Amino acid sequence: MEIVLATRNKDKIKEIKKLLDNVNVKILTFNDFPEFPIVEETGSTLRENALIKARAVVRKTGKISLADDSGLEVEALGGKPGVFSSRFAGEDASYDDNNRKLLSLLKGIPEEKRSATFKCVMALVSPKGKELVVEGICRGRITTKPYGKEGFGYDPVFQPEGMDKTFAQLSQDEKNSISHRGVALRKLKEVLEEMTQAEGKFLIGLTGNMGCGKSTVASFLEKWGLKVIKADEVGHEILKKERVKKEVIQIFGGDILNSKGEIIRSKIRGKIINNPEKLEKLNEVLHPIIKKEIWKLLTKDKTEIAVIEAALIFEAGWDFFLNKTIVVYCSKEHQIQRIKKATGMSLKEIEVFLKAQLPQEEKIKRADFVIQNDGDIKELEKKAREIFNKILVK
Ligand code: IMP
Repeated sequence: MEIVLATRNKDKIKEIKKLLDNVNVKILTFNDFPEFPIVEETGSTLRENALIKARAVVRKTGKISLADDSGLEVEALGGKPGVFSSRFAGEDASYDDNNRKLLSLLKGIPEEKRSATFKCVMALVSPKGKELVVEGICRGRITTKPYGKEGFGYDPVFQPEGMDKTFAQLSQDEKNSISHRGVALRKLKEVLEEMTQAEGKFLIGLTGNMGCGKSTVASFLEKWGLKVIKADEVGHEILKKERVKKEVIQIFGGDILNSKGEIIRSKIRGKIINNPEKLEKLNEVLHPIIKKEIWKLLTKDKTEIAVIEAALIFEAGWDFFLNKTIVVYCSKEHQIQRIKKATGMSLKEIEVFLKAQLPQEEKIKRADFVIQNDGDIKELEKKAREIFNKILVK
Protein backbone atom coordinates (compact mmCIF):
# COMPACT_ATOMS: atom_id res chain seq x y z
CA MET A 1 0.00 0.00 0.00
CA GLU A 2 1.25 3.47 -0.84
CA ILE A 3 0.50 6.64 1.07
CA VAL A 4 1.47 10.16 0.15
CA LEU A 5 2.59 12.50 2.92
CA ALA A 6 1.09 15.90 2.19
CA THR A 7 4.11 17.90 3.25
CA ARG A 8 7.32 19.36 1.86
CA ASN A 9 8.83 19.77 5.32
CA LYS A 10 11.79 17.36 5.29
CA ASP A 11 11.98 17.33 9.09
CA LYS A 12 8.39 16.20 9.46
CA ILE A 13 8.92 13.62 6.71
CA LYS A 14 11.90 12.22 8.58
CA GLU A 15 9.95 11.93 11.84
CA ILE A 16 6.86 10.42 10.26
CA LYS A 17 8.92 7.87 8.30
CA LYS A 18 10.67 6.80 11.48
CA LEU A 19 7.36 6.50 13.33
CA LEU A 20 5.94 4.30 10.57
CA ASP A 21 9.02 2.22 9.87
CA ASN A 22 7.44 -1.01 11.08
CA VAL A 23 4.19 -0.52 9.17
CA ASN A 24 4.07 -2.18 5.78
CA VAL A 25 3.40 0.95 3.71
CA LYS A 26 5.43 2.66 1.01
CA ILE A 27 5.70 6.34 1.88
CA LEU A 28 5.71 8.85 -0.94
CA THR A 29 6.01 12.61 -0.49
CA PHE A 30 5.52 15.76 -2.56
CA ASN A 31 9.07 15.14 -3.82
CA ASP A 32 7.69 12.19 -5.80
CA PHE A 33 5.25 14.57 -7.51
CA PRO A 34 7.49 17.52 -8.48
CA GLU A 35 4.81 19.28 -10.50
CA PHE A 36 2.39 19.28 -7.57
CA PRO A 37 1.32 22.89 -6.84
CA ILE A 38 1.85 24.43 -3.38
CA VAL A 39 -1.30 23.88 -1.32
CA GLU A 40 -2.39 27.11 0.38
CA GLU A 41 -3.13 26.57 4.06
CA THR A 42 -6.17 28.80 4.21
CA GLY A 43 -7.85 27.16 7.21
CA SER A 44 -8.15 28.85 10.58
CA THR A 45 -7.45 25.69 12.58
CA LEU A 46 -4.85 22.93 12.41
CA ARG A 47 -7.67 20.49 11.64
CA GLU A 48 -8.90 22.49 8.66
CA ASN A 49 -5.39 22.88 7.27
CA ALA A 50 -4.59 19.19 7.67
CA LEU A 51 -7.76 18.26 5.81
CA ILE A 52 -7.14 20.86 3.07
CA LYS A 53 -3.68 19.37 2.41
CA ALA A 54 -4.72 15.72 2.54
CA ARG A 55 -7.77 16.22 0.31
CA ALA A 56 -5.73 18.14 -2.27
CA VAL A 57 -3.20 15.30 -2.47
CA VAL A 58 -5.90 12.67 -2.87
CA ARG A 59 -7.50 14.68 -5.68
CA LYS A 60 -4.19 15.02 -7.55
CA THR A 61 -2.65 11.60 -6.95
CA GLY A 62 -5.63 9.30 -6.39
CA LYS A 63 -3.71 7.76 -3.49
CA ILE A 64 -4.26 7.64 0.26
CA SER A 65 -2.89 10.77 1.85
CA LEU A 66 -1.64 11.64 5.30
CA ALA A 67 -1.27 15.28 6.27
CA ASP A 68 0.21 16.79 9.40
CA ASP A 69 -0.54 20.27 10.56
CA SER A 70 1.14 21.23 13.74
CA GLY A 71 2.02 24.19 15.83
CA LEU A 72 3.08 25.54 19.17
CA GLU A 73 0.65 27.29 21.50
CA VAL A 74 2.27 29.46 24.14
CA GLU A 75 0.06 30.31 27.09
CA ALA A 76 1.62 33.70 27.88
CA LEU A 77 1.00 34.73 24.23
CA GLY A 78 -2.68 33.75 24.29
CA GLY A 79 -2.03 30.58 22.27
CA LYS A 80 0.23 32.12 19.63
CA PRO A 81 1.88 31.27 17.28
CA GLY A 82 -0.59 28.35 16.78
CA VAL A 83 -1.51 27.91 13.11
CA PHE A 84 1.10 30.55 12.25
CA SER A 85 3.99 28.64 13.83
CA SER A 86 6.00 28.27 10.62
CA ARG A 87 5.42 31.93 9.63
CA PHE A 88 5.71 33.48 13.10
CA ALA A 89 8.54 35.88 12.21
CA GLY A 90 7.34 36.46 8.64
CA GLU A 91 6.52 34.55 5.44
CA ASP A 92 10.05 33.24 4.79
CA ALA A 93 11.17 33.10 8.39
CA SER A 94 13.78 30.50 9.30
CA TYR A 95 13.47 28.29 12.38
CA ASP A 96 16.08 30.53 14.08
CA ASP A 97 14.09 33.69 13.24
CA ASN A 98 10.96 32.17 14.82
CA ASN A 99 12.82 31.06 17.94
CA ARG A 100 14.43 34.49 18.34
CA LYS A 101 11.06 36.19 18.08
CA LEU A 102 9.50 33.79 20.58
CA LEU A 103 12.30 34.20 23.13
CA SER A 104 12.25 37.97 22.83
CA LEU A 105 8.46 38.12 23.35
CA LEU A 106 8.85 35.99 26.48
CA LYS A 107 11.80 37.95 27.85
CA GLY A 108 11.45 38.48 31.60
CA ILE A 109 8.52 36.08 31.92
CA PRO A 110 9.18 33.73 34.87
CA GLU A 111 9.50 29.97 34.48
CA GLU A 112 6.06 29.12 35.86
CA LYS A 113 4.39 31.31 33.26
CA ARG A 114 6.25 29.90 30.24
CA SER A 115 4.04 26.88 29.64
CA ALA A 116 3.37 25.84 26.07
CA THR A 117 1.74 22.99 24.18
CA PHE A 118 2.76 21.42 20.91
CA LYS A 119 -0.28 20.26 18.95
CA CYS A 120 -0.37 18.02 15.94
CA VAL A 121 -3.43 17.20 13.89
CA MET A 122 -3.14 14.39 11.37
CA ALA A 123 -5.67 13.77 8.66
CA LEU A 124 -5.86 10.52 6.77
CA VAL A 125 -7.97 10.70 3.62
CA SER A 126 -8.65 7.81 1.26
CA PRO A 127 -9.46 8.03 -2.46
CA LYS A 128 -12.94 6.78 -1.57
CA GLY A 129 -13.42 9.95 0.48
CA LYS A 130 -13.07 8.42 3.93
CA GLU A 131 -11.55 10.79 6.42
CA LEU A 132 -10.04 10.27 9.82
CA VAL A 133 -8.62 13.09 11.92
CA VAL A 134 -6.59 12.53 15.08
CA GLU A 135 -4.83 14.85 17.46
CA GLY A 136 -1.75 14.59 19.61
CA ILE A 137 -0.47 17.05 22.18
CA CYS A 138 2.70 17.43 24.20
CA ARG A 139 2.83 19.85 27.12
CA GLY A 140 5.93 21.61 28.27
CA ARG A 141 7.51 25.03 28.65
CA ILE A 142 9.64 27.48 26.70
CA THR A 143 13.24 27.77 27.89
CA THR A 144 15.02 31.14 28.12
CA LYS A 145 17.60 30.23 25.48
CA PRO A 146 18.03 27.49 22.87
CA TYR A 147 19.57 24.13 23.84
CA GLY A 148 20.51 21.17 21.63
CA LYS A 149 21.12 20.49 17.97
CA GLU A 150 18.62 17.73 17.11
CA GLY A 151 15.13 18.08 15.68
CA PHE A 152 13.77 21.18 14.01
CA GLY A 153 11.58 24.26 14.45
CA TYR A 154 10.97 25.19 18.05
CA ASP A 155 12.64 22.03 19.38
CA PRO A 156 15.65 23.88 20.93
CA VAL A 157 13.39 26.07 23.07
CA PHE A 158 10.72 23.51 24.05
CA GLN A 159 11.22 21.48 27.19
CA PRO A 160 8.61 18.72 27.51
CA GLU A 161 6.89 18.24 30.88
CA GLY A 162 8.85 16.06 33.31
CA MET A 163 12.16 16.40 31.44
CA ASP A 164 15.20 18.56 31.98
CA LYS A 165 16.13 18.56 28.29
CA THR A 166 14.63 20.28 25.26
CA PHE A 167 13.28 18.29 22.30
CA ALA A 168 16.51 19.26 20.48
CA GLN A 169 18.57 17.46 23.15
CA LEU A 170 16.68 14.19 22.65
CA SER A 171 17.30 11.44 20.11
CA GLN A 172 14.70 11.00 17.37
CA ASP A 173 13.26 7.92 19.12
CA GLU A 174 13.09 9.70 22.48
CA LYS A 175 11.28 12.67 20.96
CA ASN A 176 8.88 10.44 19.00
CA SER A 177 7.94 8.52 22.14
CA ILE A 178 6.43 11.63 23.76
CA SER A 179 5.94 14.21 21.03
CA HIS A 180 2.61 15.53 19.74
CA ARG A 181 3.40 13.93 16.36
CA GLY A 182 4.20 10.58 17.98
CA VAL A 183 0.96 10.61 20.00
CA ALA A 184 -1.15 11.46 16.94
CA LEU A 185 0.53 9.00 14.63
CA ARG A 186 0.26 6.10 17.04
CA LYS A 187 -3.53 6.62 16.94
CA LEU A 188 -3.47 6.34 13.14
CA LYS A 189 -1.00 3.51 12.95
CA GLU A 190 -3.61 0.91 13.81
CA VAL A 191 -5.85 2.09 10.98
CA LEU A 192 -2.94 2.01 8.53
CA GLU A 193 -2.05 -1.50 9.66
CA GLU A 194 -5.65 -2.59 9.22
CA MET A 195 -5.74 -1.07 5.75
CA THR A 196 -2.66 -3.08 4.78
CA GLN A 197 -4.19 -6.21 6.31
CA ALA A 198 -7.36 -5.61 4.30
CA GLU A 199 -5.46 -5.36 1.02
CA GLY A 200 -6.51 -8.04 -1.42
CA LYS A 201 -9.74 -8.63 0.48
CA PHE A 202 -13.20 -7.34 -0.21
CA LEU A 203 -14.79 -6.44 3.09
CA ILE A 204 -18.37 -5.30 3.53
CA GLY A 205 -19.56 -3.59 6.69
CA LEU A 206 -23.18 -4.22 7.62
CA THR A 207 -24.51 -1.92 10.27
CA GLY A 208 -27.53 -0.09 11.58
CA ASN A 209 -28.85 0.92 14.94
CA MET A 210 -30.32 -1.55 17.39
CA GLY A 211 -33.59 -3.09 16.25
CA CYS A 212 -33.33 -1.97 12.61
CA GLY A 213 -32.86 -5.45 11.17
CA LYS A 214 -29.18 -5.73 10.34
CA SER A 215 -28.94 -9.24 11.82
CA THR A 216 -31.78 -10.39 9.59
CA VAL A 217 -29.93 -9.00 6.56
CA ALA A 218 -26.79 -10.75 7.83
CA SER A 219 -28.63 -14.06 7.89
CA PHE A 220 -29.69 -13.56 4.23
CA LEU A 221 -26.11 -12.84 3.19
CA GLU A 222 -24.99 -15.97 5.03
CA LYS A 223 -27.68 -17.98 3.27
CA TRP A 224 -26.38 -16.74 -0.09
CA GLY A 225 -22.92 -18.10 0.73
CA LEU A 226 -21.07 -15.11 2.13
CA LYS A 227 -18.83 -15.40 5.14
CA VAL A 228 -20.42 -13.21 7.84
CA ILE A 229 -18.61 -12.26 11.02
CA LYS A 230 -20.97 -11.06 13.71
CA ALA A 231 -19.42 -8.66 16.19
CA ASP A 232 -22.12 -9.42 18.77
CA GLU A 233 -21.33 -13.13 18.69
CA VAL A 234 -17.61 -12.43 18.90
CA GLY A 235 -18.40 -10.17 21.87
CA HIS A 236 -20.36 -12.93 23.62
CA GLU A 237 -17.48 -15.37 23.12
CA ILE A 238 -14.85 -13.04 24.54
CA LEU A 239 -16.97 -12.49 27.65
CA LYS A 240 -16.08 -16.10 28.48
CA LYS A 241 -12.36 -15.32 28.69
CA GLU A 242 -11.11 -15.01 32.26
CA ARG A 243 -9.00 -11.92 31.48
CA VAL A 244 -12.01 -10.11 29.98
CA LYS A 245 -14.33 -11.26 32.76
CA LYS A 246 -12.03 -9.69 35.34
CA GLU A 247 -12.13 -6.31 33.60
CA VAL A 248 -15.91 -6.41 33.17
CA ILE A 249 -16.38 -7.32 36.85
CA GLN A 250 -14.25 -4.31 37.74
CA ILE A 251 -16.80 -2.11 35.97
CA PHE A 252 -20.03 -3.77 37.11
CA GLY A 253 -19.21 -5.76 40.24
CA GLY A 254 -19.17 -9.50 40.93
CA ASP A 255 -22.94 -9.95 41.06
CA ILE A 256 -23.14 -10.15 37.25
CA LEU A 257 -21.96 -13.77 37.48
CA ASN A 258 -24.16 -16.85 37.79
CA SER A 259 -23.34 -19.81 40.04
CA LYS A 260 -21.08 -21.30 37.33
CA GLY A 261 -19.07 -18.08 37.19
CA GLU A 262 -20.46 -17.06 33.80
CA ILE A 263 -21.42 -13.49 32.97
CA ILE A 264 -25.19 -12.93 32.74
CA ARG A 265 -25.56 -10.39 29.95
CA SER A 266 -29.03 -9.25 31.02
CA LYS A 267 -27.54 -8.23 34.40
CA ILE A 268 -25.00 -6.03 32.60
CA ARG A 269 -27.84 -4.47 30.62
CA GLY A 270 -29.76 -3.75 33.81
CA LYS A 271 -26.75 -2.03 35.38
CA ILE A 272 -26.12 0.09 32.26
CA ILE A 273 -29.71 1.35 32.38
CA ASN A 274 -29.05 2.81 35.83
CA ASN A 275 -25.51 3.97 35.01
CA PRO A 276 -25.32 4.80 31.30
CA GLU A 277 -21.68 5.96 31.54
CA LYS A 278 -20.72 2.35 32.26
CA LEU A 279 -21.57 1.43 28.67
CA GLU A 280 -18.74 3.63 27.47
CA LYS A 281 -16.36 1.91 29.88
CA LEU A 282 -17.54 -1.51 28.74
CA ASN A 283 -16.99 -0.54 25.09
CA GLU A 284 -13.50 0.71 25.90
CA VAL A 285 -12.64 -2.73 27.24
CA LEU A 286 -14.45 -4.84 24.66
CA HIS A 287 -14.00 -3.02 21.35
CA PRO A 288 -10.25 -3.45 20.90
CA ILE A 289 -10.52 -7.16 21.80
CA ILE A 290 -13.50 -7.70 19.50
CA LYS A 291 -11.64 -6.00 16.68
CA LYS A 292 -8.58 -8.19 17.25
CA GLU A 293 -10.75 -11.33 17.21
CA ILE A 294 -12.47 -10.23 14.01
CA TRP A 295 -9.07 -9.78 12.33
CA LYS A 296 -8.07 -13.25 13.51
CA LEU A 297 -11.20 -14.69 11.89
CA LEU A 298 -10.62 -12.72 8.70
CA THR A 299 -7.01 -13.78 8.28
CA LYS A 300 -7.39 -17.36 9.53
CA ASP A 301 -8.49 -19.01 6.31
CA LYS A 302 -7.39 -16.59 3.59
CA THR A 303 -10.92 -15.18 3.40
CA GLU A 304 -11.19 -12.86 0.43
CA ILE A 305 -14.77 -11.67 0.71
CA ALA A 306 -16.47 -11.22 4.03
CA VAL A 307 -19.18 -9.25 5.75
CA ILE A 308 -18.66 -7.74 9.18
CA GLU A 309 -21.94 -7.20 10.95
CA ALA A 310 -21.54 -4.72 13.80
CA ALA A 311 -23.56 -1.92 15.38
CA LEU A 312 -20.68 0.47 15.86
CA ILE A 313 -18.82 0.34 12.54
CA PHE A 314 -18.77 4.10 12.04
CA GLU A 315 -18.42 4.94 15.74
CA ALA A 316 -15.29 2.77 15.90
CA GLY A 317 -13.82 4.07 12.59
CA TRP A 318 -13.87 0.59 11.01
CA ASP A 319 -15.27 1.93 7.76
CA PHE A 320 -11.74 3.00 6.87
CA PHE A 321 -10.69 -0.50 5.90
CA LEU A 322 -14.04 -1.65 4.52
CA ASN A 323 -14.69 -1.66 0.78
CA LYS A 324 -18.42 -1.07 1.09
CA THR A 325 -20.80 -0.26 3.90
CA ILE A 326 -24.50 -1.09 4.13
CA VAL A 327 -26.78 0.61 6.64
CA VAL A 328 -30.13 -0.93 7.57
CA TYR A 329 -32.55 1.60 9.00
CA CYS A 330 -36.22 1.96 9.87
CA SER A 331 -38.67 4.33 11.54
CA LYS A 332 -38.21 4.97 15.25
CA GLU A 333 -41.62 3.43 15.87
CA HIS A 334 -40.68 0.13 14.21
CA GLN A 335 -37.27 0.18 15.85
CA ILE A 336 -38.72 0.48 19.37
CA GLN A 337 -41.40 -2.12 18.67
CA ARG A 338 -38.75 -4.60 17.50
CA ILE A 339 -36.39 -4.00 20.43
CA LYS A 340 -39.22 -4.36 22.91
CA LYS A 341 -40.22 -7.66 21.33
CA ALA A 342 -36.68 -9.02 21.28
CA THR A 343 -35.50 -7.87 24.72
CA GLY A 344 -38.53 -6.94 26.80
CA MET A 345 -36.90 -3.59 27.66
CA SER A 346 -39.03 -0.54 28.44
CA LEU A 347 -38.94 2.62 26.32
CA LYS A 348 -36.81 4.41 28.92
CA GLU A 349 -34.34 1.55 28.95
CA ILE A 350 -34.19 1.38 25.16
CA GLU A 351 -33.40 5.13 24.99
CA VAL A 352 -30.24 4.59 27.08
CA PHE A 353 -28.82 2.22 24.46
CA LEU A 354 -29.97 4.24 21.48
CA LYS A 355 -28.26 7.35 22.84
CA ALA A 356 -24.87 5.62 22.64
CA GLN A 357 -25.22 5.05 18.89
CA LEU A 358 -24.60 7.56 16.13
CA PRO A 359 -27.94 8.94 14.87
CA GLN A 360 -29.41 7.00 11.95
CA GLU A 361 -29.26 10.01 9.62
CA GLU A 362 -25.51 10.25 10.18
CA LYS A 363 -25.01 6.58 9.37
CA ILE A 364 -27.15 6.90 6.25
CA LYS A 365 -24.98 9.80 5.08
CA ARG A 366 -21.82 7.75 5.47
CA ALA A 367 -23.10 4.52 3.92
CA ASP A 368 -22.47 3.23 0.40
CA PHE A 369 -25.82 1.40 0.41
CA VAL A 370 -28.90 1.78 2.55
CA ILE A 371 -31.82 -0.54 3.16
CA GLN A 372 -35.03 0.86 4.56
CA ASN A 373 -36.69 -1.81 6.66
CA ASP A 374 -40.22 -0.69 7.38
CA GLY A 375 -41.96 -3.42 5.40
CA ASP A 376 -42.19 -7.17 5.90
CA ILE A 377 -39.38 -9.71 5.83
CA LYS A 378 -39.97 -10.61 2.14
CA GLU A 379 -39.46 -7.00 1.16
CA LEU A 380 -36.31 -6.84 3.27
CA GLU A 381 -34.91 -9.93 1.57
CA LYS A 382 -35.67 -8.49 -1.87
CA LYS A 383 -33.89 -5.23 -1.04
CA ALA A 384 -30.91 -7.07 0.43
CA ARG A 385 -30.69 -9.27 -2.71
CA GLU A 386 -30.61 -6.20 -4.96
CA ILE A 387 -27.70 -4.75 -3.02
CA PHE A 388 -25.93 -8.11 -2.86
CA ASN A 389 -26.19 -8.30 -6.67
CA LYS A 390 -24.95 -4.73 -7.09
CA ILE A 391 -21.94 -5.26 -4.86
CA LEU A 392 -20.88 -8.76 -5.78
CA VAL A 393 -22.35 -9.95 -9.03
CA LYS A 394 -20.57 -8.38 -11.97
P1 IMP B 1 2.93 23.50 9.42
O1 IMP B 1 3.88 23.04 8.38
O2 IMP B 1 1.99 24.54 9.01
O3 IMP B 1 2.29 22.36 10.12
O4 IMP B 1 3.85 24.26 10.50
C1 IMP B 1 4.43 23.58 11.49
C2 IMP B 1 5.43 24.49 12.19
O5 IMP B 1 5.27 24.27 13.59
C3 IMP B 1 6.86 24.07 11.86
O6 IMP B 1 7.40 24.81 10.83
C4 IMP B 1 7.57 24.33 13.17
O7 IMP B 1 7.93 25.67 13.24
C5 IMP B 1 6.51 24.06 14.20
N1 IMP B 1 6.56 22.64 14.63
C6 IMP B 1 5.66 21.66 14.38
N2 IMP B 1 6.05 20.52 14.92
C7 IMP B 1 7.21 20.74 15.50
C8 IMP B 1 8.12 19.93 16.22
O8 IMP B 1 7.94 18.71 16.39
N3 IMP B 1 9.21 20.54 16.69
C9 IMP B 1 9.45 21.86 16.52
N4 IMP B 1 8.68 22.66 15.85
C10 IMP B 1 7.54 22.11 15.33
